[in-house]
Amino acid sequence: MKPNFDLSGRTAIVTGANTGIGQAIAVALASAGAAVLGVGRSSMAETEEQIADAGGRFASFSADLSTIEPVDAIVDAAVAAFGSVDILVNNAGIIRRADAIDFTEADWDAVMDVNLKTAFFLSQAVAKRMIPNGRGKIINIASMLSFQGGIRIPSYTASKSGLAGLTRLLACEWAGRGINVNAIAPGYFITNNTTALREDAKRSSDILARIPAGRWGDPQELGGAAVFLASDAAAYVHGTILPVDGGWLAR
Ligand code: NAP
Repeated sequence: MKPNFDLSGRTAIVTGANTGIGQAIAVALASAGAAVLGVGRSSMAETEEQIADAGGRFASFSADLSTIEPVDAIVDAAVAAFGSVDILVNNAGIIRRADAIDFTEADWDAVMDVNLKTAFFLSQAVAKRMIPNGRGKIINIASMLSFQGGIRIPSYTASKSGLAGLTRLLACEWAGRGINVNAIAPGYFITNNTTALREDAKRSSDILARIPAGRWGDPQELGGAAVFLASDAAAYVHGTILPVDGGWLAR
């Protein structure tokens, strides 16, 4: 049997698709044939242009994911634009840096709300559409901090470790209903999220020294993993956290 990575006829929702990892994943899914609804609070014009250049289909929906208020409207928008919801990529995420001893409740709540709470309730909203169809794919963007502690990012580590657990729970509940729930755990990629790290000479060289591949990742290098997990080729893959990390976890 030839593995099938074709996403033609599928609709994907990608949160935070305006930049970085979300943009790269949106372009990869569209290049594999999916119609993509990009969801976020900033202009998606650049993503729209890249997808048009690749010959794909794209629409955008403006939503602030710091609350769960927009989740039903997001699903409705995908159905209105493209007729279905087959794939959800929970990519939108934030990070706040401070020593644990000084960390504030505001920085705890802000990160947990976007990275974990909205990811769960958006998954719930799409699953209500997917379950009657008997098919769907949910891909959570986890992190090395789904496996490790890190420093100075307590709410981020809690949210990404929580997202790994949630990925496994949802896989256990929904695998039998035809939904594949998995996660991608990116290593260290060049995006806005890691600007502070890359600008800190000591942290940057410590991180680089630990990456067997010897370089930071380019967000486009996550596209293949996303297409795989969104495709029929991953039909029997459930509840996995797939590292794409230049070998970081192997060291
Ligand atoms: P990024 O460039 O900062 O992208 C974050 C995305 O999330 C942006 O599109 C951002 O929109 C969106 N977002 C944040 N808060 C939002 C809100 N309240 N409502 C709507 N959208 C919101 O960083 P990135 O690296 O591509 O991050 C994408 C995901 O990958 C995150 O979940 C991050 O934790 C994860 N990750 C990144 C790395 C890495 O090395 N870069 C490693 C592991 C995991 P705005 O542009 O409007 O802020």
